Amino acid sequence: MKDFGLSIWANNNFLIENDELKLNYKTKPSLLEITEKIRSDGTRGPILLRFPHLIKKQIKSLYTNFSNAIKENNYKGSFNAVFPLKVNQFPHAINAITKEGKEYNYGLEAGSKAELVLAMAKTPTMANITVNGFKDKEMITLGFIAAQSGQNITLTIEGLNELETIIKVANESNLKIPNIGIRVRLHSTGSGTWAKSGGMDAKFGLTATEIIEAIKLLKNAQLINKLTMIHFHIGSQMEDIAPIKKALREAGNIYAELRKMGATSLSNINIGGGLAVEYDQHSHSKSRNYSIEEFSSSVVFLLGEIMNAKNVKHPNIFTESGRFIVASHAVLITPVLELFSQDYREELLSLKEENPPLIDELIELNKLLNNSNAIEYLHDALDHVESLLTLFDLGYIDLQDRSNGEILAHNVIKKALYLKSANPTNELEQLQVKLQERYLINASIFQSLPDYWGLNQDFPIMPLNHLGKTPHRAASIWDITCDSDGEIGFNPDKPLYLHDIDLDKEDYFLGFFNIGAYQETLGMQHNLFTKPSEYTININKTGYEIVNSIESKSILNILNSIGYDKNEILNKLEKGLLNSEFITKKEKKDTLLKLKLFLKQNGYLRTTN
Ligand SMILES: *Cc1c(COP(=O)(O)O)cnc(C)c1O
Repeated sequence: MKDFGLSIWANNNFLIENDELKLNYKTKPSLLEITEKIRSDGTRGPILLRFPHLIKKQIKSLYTNFSNAIKENNYKGSFNAVFPLKVNQFPHAINAITKEGKEYNYGLEAGSKAELVLAMAKTPTMANITVNGFKDKEMITLGFIAAQSGQNITLTIEGLNELETIIKVANESNLKIPNIGIRVRLHSTGSGTWAKSGGMDAKFGLTATEIIEAIKLLKNAQLINKLTMIHFHIGSQMEDIAPIKKALREAGNIYAELRKMGATSLSNINIGGGLAVEYDQHSHSKSRNYSIEEFSSSVVFLLGEIMNAKNVKHPNIFTESGRFIVASHAVLITPVLELFSQDYREELLSLKEENPPLIDELIELNKLLNNSNAIEYLHDALDHVESLLTLFDLGYIDLQDRSNGEILAHNVIKKALYLKSANPTNELEQLQVKLQERYLINASIFQSLPDYWGLNQDFPIMPLNHLGKTPHRAASIWDITCDSDGEIGFNPDKPLYLHDIDLDKEDYFLGFFNIGAYQETLGMQHNLFTKPSEYTININKTGYEIVNSIESKSILNILNSIGYDKNEILNKLEKGLLNSEFITKKEKKDTLLKLKLFLKQNGYLRTTN
């Protein structure tokens, strides 16, 4: 698998050309070149690259597909979308989203007070703001302030108590009343890891009985004209389209019923998020069973069909897809610091004048190994290394002999695996798994790929170059946290093979893809590894520019951010050094400068040998 599943997960965003991975856009810059340019000023550690053109592509795809479906189905409602802030709240992502979405009136969705304030500050005036999640009186009042300030805002209630608070705030103030939405609790549940948002026991939404109660409350308060939207969200990364359709039928019928019950201002149906992203690198385990074309035409067709049958005007459609919009725009690039088997390099052999006979035999096996005897010699080598270890335990050979034996045996195995890689036997495959190469990356899985740690979510992984060569090493990826969970193990069902690289001679960078949704905020500072340095890459007609760089936090600032006084720490270290004995004044001064420099650098590793 030389292309690392590019044709499955990459959506034509990347291509392989001349050994390297490139952006498939305009001047087609290579990721390695961008990485080297960023590192040329001494920047080290993992880097996160944002590509705004990929955000633009996804927004356009969403709007174009819905607009086509609306035309094809002669649908009478409009299409509207908002970006759910919880998926990525970081400034350079949000600025790109609002900039690229402007021509479509793309809005923002908020699920907390801080997100609501962000939405109020960042949503263009004509675009929509939708508000979900649990709300108190303060948050509801913020919604009134947004409406008063001219924003197109809909507060979606998650329970009757929220509606009661809205009525109270409306009665107590003269502020403009925002539009009101009702989140409905569907009996249709989703599927997949994230599908906890639907069903009778769901965390969110009003039951049928509560919806009827809500209509009564609204009518009594003479606010029924403010009820404009019903909303549902059955879960994220909905890999199967069937439950989505089921939920749509249910919600569509609730909408039609409410119109008939006198909710005459009701005109919008908000179908939430859930549009899935392809994360898989292997065709047999592809995660999605539908495309954006199928999704949009199913939504439009189904809603049209339900409304036609019940003789109700077609509602405007709202979506809140987040993952689909931003997952592809961010790529994490990490240097590989070490290959575990480098400890078994042939250069490290230190043979004696007289070697134990088993060692001599291993030397012969190494010399004579070829395609036809590979399996037999491999068995011999495995056998010999077992015997050598037994001899060592019994005290018959020394540590140098043991080291030589391990290096020689390892080399035989590696050569045999390589010779037979096109056509491996079962035994060889199992051996691959056992002898997998460990690639130590200068990054933290907890910080940068938290969904791998928490949910076993795979992300596409591939090197940035050497792509003309078939990789042979079964790879497991280890991060630099001191936690054994910081590992992406080799999975024989979805194998990742990487190249055998001499890291003394060249760098080897791995890219982790589709990490733009959820990973950045969910990332945690385990071992005090903070957000990687990030850069926005604007690709233009003549090349590309690197803008919006934010360096990963310095060591002192990391400690400061969790509540330590950085000056106190600095003073303590300084005093300790200055009061120390047995070095000259000049040495003290030089060492102090060095110390201060270190504390200003980020917390990732800088030197590898
Ligand atoms: C999380 C969430 C979304 C976004 O879901 P995606 O799967 O990322 O598209 C949309 N709406 C609501 C209410 C959510 O909670």
